[in-house]
Amino acid sequence: MTKVLDGKAVAAEIRVEVAAGVAELVAGGGRRPGLAAVLVGDDPASSIYVASKGRDSEEVGMVSRTHRLPVATSEAELLALVDALNADDEVDGILVQLPLPAHMSGRRVLDRIDPAKDVDGFHPVSVGRLWLDEPGFVSATPAGILELLRRYEVPLAGAHAVVLGRSAIVGKPMAGLLLRAHCTVTVCHSRTRNLPAITRQADVLVAAVGRAAMVGPEHVKPGAVVIDVGINRLDSEDAVRAAFPDDAGKLARFRDKGSLLVGDVDFDRVAPIASAITPVPGGVGPLTRAMLLVNTLAAARARQGRPAIHAAARVG
Ligand code: NDP
Repeated sequence: MTKVLDGKAVAAEIRVEVAAGVAELVAGGGRRPGLAAVLVGDDPASSIYVASKGRDSEEVGMVSRTHRLPVATSEAELLALVDALNADDEVDGILVQLPLPAHMSGRRVLDRIDPAKDVDGFHPVSVGRLWLDEPGFVSATPAGILELLRRYEVPLAGAHAVVLGRSAIVGKPMAGLLLRAHCTVTVCHSRTRNLPAITRQADVLVAAVGRAAMVGPEHVKPGAVVIDVGINRLDSEDAVRAAFPDDAGKLARFRDKGSLLVGDVDFDRVAPIASAITPVPGGVGPLTRAMLLVNTLAAARARQGRPAIHAAARVG
């Protein structure tokens, strides 16, 4: 019987733990954790993400602040804001929502964030610490996936994990975390030859590609654990037909709703052969949001000289 790994439920558990951690910090005379988000421009999806991060952090008792800058902001102005947030003692975590407008270097901006406040885990210092097995901030999506695997007690030591995708925010840190958890790790990407033969070796398969339903049963070993990171919005009948040929049910749902949100894995065809699988939506997405709170609490504790005692905040 295939187990559906419920990211939403695990994220709710994590949020309760973080709220308790914030309450304990404050009860012990500490300062409430503060999260500052920076949004440049008016991209609707980015705006929704930033608003939900702010709401999440307030719900667990943190202080949230959003800096909305016009799209014409110069890189120098944005860097000046990052400097001010770095120097602001009440700010424990800084998030710069990506993507930034084309006239800015995302790398230069992320590199400017104080590593002690790098709750997104994108700073080179955080990335280096991950690969050196040192405590540090880990990008929220892969950190959330590892937490999910731990809480469902998926055996990782000695397992072959295949990560599909090598981006800096998902694929690479995912590979680093799985390696740290003693998996044998293979990373695949767009130049990988004979992809299904490699992914079929996976005991744990993580798909982070950004291509709707690309992973089918031919990519999956029977009994594998499948984690679907992809978030793909299909907004035309042609796109639905291309991703799910001959699936009248999907087409009917699309006509009903006007769009479909699907993962990188063809859930209906892969679930029957997997031992466990995450759904989209309700899998990895909610975990990403929850782990950002874990990172922010960890930052606040560390900046107030307190050890990271919250269970989910462990980085090893
Ligand atoms: P990127 O576009 O940065 O990376 C995609 C990766 O997939 C690249 O390494 C690329 O290879 C590889 N790839 C593309 N096409 C193929 C192919 N045909 N065969 C094999 N590999 C391929 O995406 P992200 O890592 O940022 O995101 C991946 C997905 O995860 C997206 O759908 C995104 O929306 C979603 N996402 C979800 C989050 C969540 O919270 N659930 C958080 C972050 C992302 P190459 O390097 O060679 O180009």
